Amino acid sequence: MSTPHVTIKLPKELVDEMDKLKGKHGFRGRGEIAKEAIRQLLDKYKADINAPPRFVKINSDENGIKLRDNVLNREVDVYIKPYGVRCLLDDSSTCEHVYYALSDSDVRKIIRAKIKEGWKLPDV
Ligand SMILES: [Zn+2]
Repeated sequence: MSTPHVTIKLPKELVDEMDKLKGKHGFRGRGEIAKEAIRQLLDKYKADINAPPRFVKINSDENGIKLRDNVLNREVDVYIKPYGVRCLLDDSSTCEHVYYALSDSDVRKIIRAKIKEGWKLPDV
């Protein structure tokens, strides 16, 4: 049985550059070039890939999300309010905790519903 594959899209400009490597250094096609490039990148960031994630979601409801920040080593609450999304720790709407909250699919679902109710929230 062969390894499952997935298709990814790349800008044509980048692929044109890759094509210049075809026939050189033993590369026969784009797939080989892409695989080698990605392997090198993954190897470079191996430590990051294997590190525990900085943020871990603890729970969320329509008021917001509670997360664990593994760098600060503490829990952080981010609230969804009619005037915006707010981090209680940093008293900010632009800190990393808010950005993490905005990446959570449950939070995004709540935000989209609240926007329909007229709340002034970031478009997600
Ligand atoms: Zn914060």
